[in-house]
Order: sequence, then structure tokens, then C-alpha cells
Amino acid sequence: MIGERNSSGIVRLETFLRRNGEPYRLVDPQADPQACSLARQYCGRTYEVLAVCPDGSVLVDPSVEALAHRLGLVDMDSDATLYDVAIIGAGPAGLSTAVYAASEGLKVVMLDRSAFGGQAGASARIENYLGFPTGISGQALAGRAYVQAQKFGVKMLIPATVAGVDCSRRERPALQVQLVDGHSLWAHTVVLATGARYRRPQAENLFAFEGRGVWYWASPIEARMCVGQEVVLVGGGNSAGQGAVFLARHAAKVIMLVRGKGLAASMSRYLIDRIAATTNIEIRSEHEIERLEGDRSGLARLTWRDREARRSETRAIRNLFLFVGAEPETRCLEGCNALLDPAGFVVTGKSGRGALESSVEGLFAVGDVRSGSVKRVGGAIGEGAAVVAHIHQRLASLGVNNFS
Ligand SMILES: Cc1cc2nc3c(=O)[nH]c(=O)nc-3n(C[C@H](O)[C@H](O)[C@H](O)COP(=O)(O)OP(=O)(O)OC[C@H]3O[C@@H](n4cnc5c(N)ncnc54)[C@H](O)[C@@H]3O)c2cc1C
Repeated sequence: MIGERNSSGIVRLETFLRRNGEPYRLVDPQADPQACSLARQYCGRTYEVLAVCPDGSVLVDPSVEALAHRLGLVDMDSDATLYDVAIIGAGPAGLSTAVYAASEGLKVVMLDRSAFGGQAGASARIENYLGFPTGISGQALAGRAYVQAQKFGVKMLIPATVAGVDCSRRERPALQVQLVDGHSLWAHTVVLATGARYRRPQAENLFAFEGRGVWYWASPIEARMCVGQEVVLVGGGNSAGQGAVFLARHAAKVIMLVRGKGLAASMSRYLIDRIAATTNIEIRSEHEIERLEGDRSGLARLTWRDREARRSETRAIRNLFLFVGAEPETRCLEGCNALLDPAGFVVTGKSGRGALESSVEGLFAVGDVRSGSVKRVGGAIGEGAAVVAHIHQRLASLGVNNFS
């Protein structure tokens, strides 16, 4: 890819390639004079990103979807297969379902709108996953599972956003998974492993700077932009704590804005201790962000409010990290009539259904999206393994020979 290292186009595509373990090389015309002549050779007009692809073609300012398509990552033009199971979401729960289902001989397709790993993929270090006494990054853990799923023959479609699931079985005796790009595929069973989506705090101009200084995760790509800077991180939970400790290794200072009176009620003790031992993290309790302002290159100033003192303060801030929790991602179930609990999580195990089956026959839910799940990597992986037994039962009741 040819483009300015920290431009929003490069960051968007780099995030996608990196999160999905796709190899690439970045050439920045500002740092490498040869890149300018290379760019001139490939493109005669102004551009933000030039993507020179393995087949020799050059894409100018491509979307993530266009690049993925050119790289052959989403190949479903002629997919008439009837799958045993379609898994929506490639976080820990989806990956685990895929590995166990495919290793037991089922025909499996897995779709994700952005990358494998889900929320866990954004975690710099998972310290409580069994068997890794010194911790492991979510990306490394998910990457291994992704390769394992591929080894067992799972068909992967990333990026592929599911818009809806047609549970009516009107056209065929199967469930239809419909994608936002108009494609669809069919499966005897569907496992919803869509986890959670990030919550957004109320603040003026927040949307305008998403991807241009406002981040919902902290990976090495964002960390690179923070070197020597003062950055702000909002949130008081464990993911906020992990993010702050990680960013403090790169930024000059991390200012943590916490809505409550402190961290004790919302964060694990070991993280509180680690933050206390990190001299360049400053905690400001009872604070919230108010307004964002910027320029052509992105976020430039942030105003926050001390709720107790009722005083606002504006500072030059280029990077703002938001870790304010998440809510269940069930939008693709609209129209499917699956039972949700009052908080919007998918209810399973009611009215004689299997423990992980929703109120719709053949539609299962695992991981963070499921009502009553523990919201931990270990829990999500366990549910992914367990749901496969229910899928076998369902397939047997349909008379499907899944060991062929
Ligand atoms: C920063 C951070 C740190 C964490 N640290 C820890 C930790 O140390 N230990 C621990 O046990 N837990 C930790 N957690 C929690 C843990 O990551 C989650 O419990 C776990 O990831 C849940 O897995 P999941 O597969 O259910 O959902 P998710 O991880 O949320 O994955 C859901 C996937 O579904 C995809 N998706 C959603 N909707 C659609 C759609 N319509 N079409 C296609 N794809 C879709 C998403 O892109 C996503 O990849 C952390 C979470 C965060 C955010």
C-alpha cells in the first residue's frame, strides 16, 4: 500500500489486513522518496491510498470490501451449498463453534463483518485464559483458532456483514442468511455469535472523528500514532484498564476519564495495582467527555467536564480511546422473532429447547450475545464447543447425515 502512514484511509485498510493476518507492505511517500515515483507510475491522479495487489492490479482508495474481494477473501458468487451450520461472528465463540463443528465432520461456513477475534482480538493481553500463565494477546489466541478452523475446512467469509436471518423456511427447508451486499446462503442451522457492539458516550461531534482520532480499541497501529503524545482514554472497566496500561508504554501520558468515583467497583484488583504502578497514567474520577473539535487531519481538541466541580477543560488531544462497555449485537435478528431478554440478549433454553437454542428452531446463540453468558473468553469458547452437540441433535431430527 502506498500512502501516508497515519492517514485515515491507510489506518482503515491496515487495521483490516493486520487484524486478519494478511501480509502487506506500507510505503509512505513522506518518508520514502522512491514511493513518489512509484505512485506516479501507478496513478495519475490524487489519491490517499494506492493498493498494489498480488495479481498486479492497482486499486485507488479502495473500500475494505473492495480490497478483500480483490484478495479473494470473500468468494461467494456461486455458492449454492446447503451448509450444516452457518456461524455469524468470528469472535472466540464463533471460532470455537467452527473448530468443533468442522472437526466433527460438519459442513461449516463462518462470516464476520470485520475480522476474526471479535472483542478479544482487540485485547492487548488476556491474562485469565487457562493455560497461558504469562497471558496471551487476543490476536495471537484468535489467530491460532482461525488457522485451526481453516485446517478443518471451514469456509470463511470476512468481511461479510449479515443483515438478516430468514427463519420462515418458506423457500427451502433451511435458514437463509442474508448479507448486506445482497448475497445470501443457506444452512440447516445458524449459530449467532455476534457478541457485543461498542457503546458510544454522549459527546458533541463524536461521530465526525471516528477513525480519525476516536478509537474503540488500542492495537499497535493506534499506539504508533500516540508516541510522545498526551492521550485520553474513557472508561473504568477491565478493558479500559488493559488499554491504559498498553497505551502508557507508547504515549507520553494517558489521562483516564472515569465516570464513577474510582475504579474499585468496576475493575479487577490486579489491573488497579498495575495502573497505580504506571507513572504516566493519570486517573480523573467523575469526569466525562463533552465536545470534540478538529481539523482536516482529524481530532485536535477535546473538552471534558469535571462533574463534581462542574468545570470544563479543553486540551489539545489527537487520540481519544473509548472503552465504555458494549451492548448485545442482535440487529440481524430483527424480523426473526427470536426471544430477547429486557436488556436485548438472546434468550436460549426456553420451552423445551436445548440450553443454547433460541426460541427459533435451529437458531442457536453462544458467547456474549446470549442472555446469561459470563462475558469471558473462556465462557464463549466453552459455549462454542457445547453447541455442537445440540447441532448434531437438530441435524439428526432433520434426517441429515452429517458424517458423510
Ligand atoms: C479490550 C477487551 C479486553 C478483554 N479482555 C478480556 C480478558 O482479559 N479476559 C476475558 O475472559 N475476557 C476479556 N474480554 C471479553 C471477551 O473478549 C469477550 O467476552 C469475548 O470476546 C466474547 O466473545 P464472542 O465471540 O461472544 O463475541 P465477540 O468477541 O464480540 O465477537 C463477535 C463477532 O461477531 C461479529 N459480528 C457482529 N455482528 C455481525 C454481523 N451482523 N455480521 C457479521 N459479523 C458480525 C463481530 O465483528 C465480532 O467479530 C475483553 C473484551 C475487550 C473488549
